[in-house]
Amino acid sequence: MYDETNDKVLLLNTVQKFMEDEMYPHEDKVDKLGFVPDEIGRQIEQKSLEIGLFAANLPEKYGGGGLDYSSMKLVEREYGKTSHALHSWVARPTEILLACNGSQKEEYLFPCIKGQKRELFALTEPEAGSDVMSMKSNAKLVGEDWVLNGSKHFISGPCMPDFAIVFAATGENETPRGKRKRVTAFLVDVGIPGFDIQEGTKCISYKGYKNYQLSFNDVKLSKDKILGEEGNGLSLSGKWLGMGRVWVGATCCGKAERILGLAVEWAASRKQFSKPIGSFQATGFKLADMKMNLRAADLLVDDCVKKALDGKMTDEDAAIVKVYCSEMLNKVADDTVQIYGGMGLMEEMPIERLWRDSRLERIWDGTSEIQRHIITRSMLRPLGA
Ligand SMILES: Cc1cc2nc3c(=O)[nH]c(=O)nc-3n(C[C@H](O)[C@H](O)[C@H](O)COP(=O)(O)OP(=O)(O)OC[C@H]3O[C@@H](n4cnc5c(N)ncnc54)[C@H](O)[C@@H]3O)c2cc1C
Repeated sequence: MYDETNDKVLLLNTVQKFMEDEMYPHEDKVDKLGFVPDEIGRQIEQKSLEIGLFAANLPEKYGGGGLDYSSMKLVEREYGKTSHALHSWVARPTEILLACNGSQKEEYLFPCIKGQKRELFALTEPEAGSDVMSMKSNAKLVGEDWVLNGSKHFISGPCMPDFAIVFAATGENETPRGKRKRVTAFLVDVGIPGFDIQEGTKCISYKGYKNYQLSFNDVKLSKDKILGEEGNGLSLSGKWLGMGRVWVGATCCGKAERILGLAVEWAASRKQFSKPIGSFQATGFKLADMKMNLRAADLLVDDCVKKALDGKMTDEDAAIVKVYCSEMLNKVADDTVQIYGGMGLMEEMPIERLWRDSRLERIWDGTSEIQRHIITRSMLRPLGA
């Protein structure tokens, strides 16, 4: 860690102690069960409310923790060391909820900060993953109400939510590059007529972290269920996705640090040919590469956080962090399996779990290919290509 103030050291100690008490002891059990027992999830939720980590990312004036991006980076990096299935119980409600207007604040924003409601962020659809703009979900104005139809999948959270922020096409805009869907974000309560929500297929990364399939069949929504303005859903989602990618980078660095620690321990203690395997250059150089690449990844995250604090972070900056850190983590995890040999794949060791968990990071929040596409576009588009 570089350049930490006392406050940050204190914050880090609090998070580390909380994770040691409330998360690490449950990792193995949760992974084997494939779900988080409710009493464990609720305890994490309750304790995090008590120590002020719940909704730490949202402004103090609304009852959140008021941590700035630089402090949130430390927190997210630490959470990255454990499973999403566990740390997601400490809510960091999506910042786009700050777009709540009037009574929406009482109904959605404040309850999410107090731990009374949970939200889902529902963008991805079965036929619209990377290609978000091919979404089929749509809402039409019929009389005074919007009528929502369509479906979403892979929409994740720690437990059954109270409402979903659903992105749907509400028309088309003419742009210099042709027609583009106009996308609107809606606040859709679980339990209203026509909205069905079911648990999705089990994922082998972060076992116990749930994902849901949502379907909307003529769901009637009054105008006050629009989050932000009609047609500004993409700029809202973009805001969230950008910082979300930086947090993926930070969590990847945390996890890589933990895995590297396990690799070093094994390389120093496992002997073959009467020597610690770390003394063979083939193993030792893997450790050296892991350390160098982790250091570079941490610096990239720090740089991006500084830009975000100055309001200068671009989509390209976030994409660079996301792709670099997630691929760094996957190399660290895979090389660690190699260093452990057969033991790396055995369930009695945490390595195979950390390796499985790491794999998702190259896919969600936009795949590595999509991040590279963003980076390429930012170089070529100014030249008209
Ligand atoms: C566990 C989990 C939780 C998730 N949680 C959420 C959530 O809460 N909310 C939400 O909205 N979404 C969520 N997602 C969805 C996630 O963001 C998508 O899975 C991701 O964006 C990729 O979409 P896809 O899986 O449909 O893959 P596809 O888009 O079908 O891509 C398949 C492959 O094709 C490649 N590809 C596609 N287009 C291009 C291109 N133009 N150039 C090069 N390669 C390309 C991709 O990189 C990938 O390798 C979650 C996903 C998972 C697995």
